[in-house]
Amino acid sequence: MAVTSLWDDRDLTDEQKLFKSSILRWAERNLPLSRVIKMNREGHPFPQDIIKGLGELGVIMGTVPKERGGLGLRWTDQAIIAEVIGYIDPSIATAAGFMAVGSGWGFTVDRYAGDEVREKYIRPAMRGEGFVGIASTEPGGGSDVSNFKCTGVKEGDEWVLNGEKTFISGVEEAQRIGGGYWVNVRTGPKQDDAPHKNMTAFFVPIDTDGLTPTEPYDDAGRNAISTSGFIMEDVRVPDEYMLGEEGKGFYYTMEGFDNARILIGGSAVGVTRRLLEEAADYIKERETFGRPLAKYEGIQFEFVERYIEMEASNLMVKKVAAMQDVRYDEEGWLARTGKATTYRPKEIAKWIAMIKYKIPHLAKDTADDAMHWLGAAGYSSEFIFETAWRGVMSYCVGAEGGANIQKIVIGRETLGNDYVPYR
Ligand SMILES: Cc1cc2nc3c(=O)[nH]c(=O)nc-3n(C[C@H](O)[C@H](O)[C@H](O)COP(=O)(O)OP(=O)(O)OC[C@H]3O[C@@H](n4cnc5c(N)ncnc54)[C@H](O)[C@@H]3O)c2cc1C
Repeated sequence: MAVTSLWDDRDLTDEQKLFKSSILRWAERNLPLSRVIKMNREGHPFPQDIIKGLGELGVIMGTVPKERGGLGLRWTDQAIIAEVIGYIDPSIATAAGFMAVGSGWGFTVDRYAGDEVREKYIRPAMRGEGFVGIASTEPGGGSDVSNFKCTGVKEGDEWVLNGEKTFISGVEEAQRIGGGYWVNVRTGPKQDDAPHKNMTAFFVPIDTDGLTPTEPYDDAGRNAISTSGFIMEDVRVPDEYMLGEEGKGFYYTMEGFDNARILIGGSAVGVTRRLLEEAADYIKERETFGRPLAKYEGIQFEFVERYIEMEASNLMVKKVAAMQDVRYDEEGWLARTGKATTYRPKEIAKWIAMIKYKIPHLAKDTADDAMHWLGAAGYSSEFIFETAWRGVMSYCVGAEGGANIQKIVIGRETLGNDYVPYR
């Protein structure tokens, strides 16, 4: 653990401090940086003791309400938990990726699922005994969420799903420990002026007949959790495995992305904080020309720039998580209910897109800077920086939505609807 502390936690609640200290204690025993590095070198599958450990810590889907078996945490709590997890896992792959995907999407599945899906899949996943993920992306592309080709046709009281999903996190892990995916398919004719309509979301267990996983990708980073996909050939799921209402999958999917992106933002703050701490320890110690590296402006001022950006990002995540709490408190967060009074959903989406765009890039750039500050040592996997760079990059290029897509969401709200590129 780093000697330099760049973490002032006096504004945390007692419960948040308790989460922070128990996660750090758990990580010291079970997930030191050396193990994060090793897991990223050796590749998936993601070790079961860590999945179980995260479940026991209560960090997976903590925001599921108490009456449905969750801890009933606020998004402000879950975002701080995400930060601590990013801090212990700067590869954002092992614990952080798993927690963020599982919690953001798991919570949203829980909101729209029937009792059977909740009992059989959500509850075990909360305990770290299963995996719940998102299967949105298709071979034709991931950004255009309203134009997917997978289909669903109703036959009696079942739905028959066909098509392929690709670049999906955790398929290998779900096969191993059980679980399933939020899967979007088209269930009605495509309307050219409103392609997002007639998309429906289903929960599809990974072991359903007709579902065949595809080969894992050999990714640049985030190697401790698998990325692959699956083909669905006449996959049958019961009517009650539909999430929410028929034809409204696009809206629910946007909600799921919002939830996952808040946690990615929180995790990336934690990653940046840890990288700065680790780098600070080194540059204060290492001397060239008779002085510590930290004394040279070329290094100190770059360090300070990243520190300022990190603390500004931290405040942004807190603001955004608090907006999400208001949204769920009002239970009117969907504009179509007419109940959202404090923030418009698209306004919250803009803030969420800002943290999803900015903070993973900050974490990646900090890792890049730190490699320069450390010289050859920074380039070696003896230190965490190159592992972190490779891992965080996944959230810059695409995972949970590409960078430009976030900018389109922000542009829509700042310049107006007339300037969105897809119209
Ligand atoms: C490690 C990893 C894990 C992933 N895990 C999952 C998962 O669990 N589930 C899942 O469903 N998906 C997952 N994805 C896929 C991810 O959701 C997609 O990468 C993302 O949605 C972008 O889709 P794409 O990669 O097909 O890029 P494309 O949609 O082909 O876009 C390519 C590039 O063009 C940009 N672009 C697209 N449209 C525009 C436009 N109108 N204007 C300007 N620029 C544009 C994009 O930002 C992107 O940079 C994962 C990706 C990675 C890297």
